[in-house]
Amino acid sequence: MAEDTHVLDRPPEGASADWTIPQNWDAYTPEEHATWDRLFARQAKLLPGRASEAYLKGLDALRLSDGGIPHFEELSERLMKLTGWQVIAVPGLVPDDVFFDHMANRRFVAGNFIRRPDQLDYIQEPDVFHDVFGHVPMLADPVFADYLEAYGRGGNRALELGALKQFGRLYWYTVEFGLVEEAGNLRIYGSGIVSSFAETRFALEDPSPNRIRFDLERVMRTEYRIDDFQQNYFVIPSFDELLRLTLETDFAPLYGTLLAQPDVPVGTILPEDVMITRGTQEYAEAKV
Ligand code: FE
Repeated sequence: MAEDTHVLDRPPEGASADWTIPQNWDAYTPEEHATWDRLFARQAKLLPGRASEAYLKGLDALRLSDGGIPHFEELSERLMKLTGWQVIAVPGLVPDDVFFDHMANRRFVAGNFIRRPDQLDYIQEPDVFHDVFGHVPMLADPVFADYLEAYGRGGNRALELGALKQFGRLYWYTVEFGLVEEAGNLRIYGSGIVSSFAETRFALEDPSPNRIRFDLERVMRTEYRIDDFQQNYFVIPSFDELLRLTLETDFAPLYGTLLAQPDVPVGTILPEDVMITRGTQEYAEAKV
């Protein structure tokens, strides 16, 4: 997601007018491929039984593996056949309207660089492991693929209506940090979780965070943390339901209501929340 830091106002040298750049796959060093492989092997072991079926199916169908950093063109070819999406490289973060335009046209923008070996567990800007391993498997799911396209279309409307912050929270609490209920079990599907060794277990198994039934208005009022594990996760009943809500909601009047209400701080439980897990917040409080 485009956090609005370090964003340039026009494409840098070497980038096209739509901000894309060549992935430059041949330039990856053996060490960089090895970093991908280490991260991949670690997550592949952890995710079965924790990640959503849709995610695991996508990982398989796209043949992502520990065979080095994927080639975006080959990956796009497979993805195109499944859901009509492509993966394109961009130089780090891009302006919001560019991000939304690509998304509305089923192009997922990905960073082409990979974290250094000493950054396996934390990076500030999304790298190819976060963007490709974290996000792309869900794009192979037809329902989620439609959701993300709808999100892209909604983005530019939110920009016009001055509600980017509210709309961005929907992305944060679904695409980046979402949980879903599958056959009575909690599963992770958010890219920020599935690409993180520590947060995979924290989001599902730690007693600290709140796990709250997803509610569109509630989510769009809720602040989030960019510096540490989330204090709230929101649980959708299914991807069909998430897509239906997004397509059927008239966002313009909803923004009017939301902008008149106070934001909800992280870790807060509201009286109307449907709790799946009431968190202890022990983890967050230990850090204060
Ligand atoms: Fe992301």
